[in-house]
Amino acid sequence: LLPISKTLFLQTSKSRRCPFHSLHESPNFSPKSPHFHHFRQYKRPPSKVSPSSAWFSGFGSNKKTAEVLPEIVKAGDPVLHEPASEVPIEEIGSERVQKIVDDMIGVMRRGPGVGLAAPQIGIPLRIIVLEDTKEYISYAPKKEIEAQDRRSFDLLVIINPRLQKKGNKTALFFEGCLSVDGFRAVVERHLEVEVTGFNRDGTPLQIYARGWQARILQHEYDHLDGTIYVDKFVPRTFRTVENVDLPLPVGCPQLGVRSLEQA
Ligand SMILES: [Zn+2]
Repeated sequence: LLPISKTLFLQTSKSRRCPFHSLHESPNFSPKSPHFHHFRQYKRPPSKVSPSSAWFSGFGSNKKTAEVLPEIVKAGDPVLHEPASEVPIEEIGSERVQKIVDDMIGVMRRGPGVGLAAPQIGIPLRIIVLEDTKEYISYAPKKEIEAQDRRSFDLLVIINPRLQKKGNKTALFFEGCLSVDGFRAVVERHLEVEVTGFNRDGTPLQIYARGWQARILQHEYDHLDGTIYVDKFVPRTFRTVENVDLPLPVGCPQLGVRSLEQA
């Protein structure tokens, strides 16, 4: 979720602030990385890599491959549109799964993004990573940080997450995805969620999150079910990142927090 680039943020946000609504997502940018090979064999350049079968069978973690991070899989690739499989508990400590986790962290930070799901590096397993830092947050306007209830948190690795929506409030904000370069749309997310699962050591974990962290968790969790934000955004809010500050169309719900109607 949400690639972040100070450069583009400064280029677009400061010069193109929209007077009509300030609750926009930071205009972000994910640089294409042609020097990084794609995870899967059919898209990979011939050098510096091991066969893709080696990754799946756990023999791929020699030094050469460890130096090269997988590329982010883009929308349209079937791995992003199908449900991912649970990681067998006994395999969490395996070299293969640990390597996948390390790659995911590396790819998320390279983005940089604040979250990543394993299908985004071509791995159909239920693993997500997320992290939001003071530095990333410092690039966003203060008003926006407050509106989004965005606070820094340490790296989280969650294997086989289960997500429960909590409370009766939702939040509408722009979000983006590393697998859908250059675009944003408003997505309605629950304000509070509870997530259980396992950390990378196989220890059970339970997280209660709200605000922006809850949004990241829901975005990444959706990836594990083959859903991208473009499958569920508020109609007519999809736009290029350059246009993120422009007014929403007439009739679109306001950005911010709202209560679900108690029917
Ligand atoms: Zn995403």
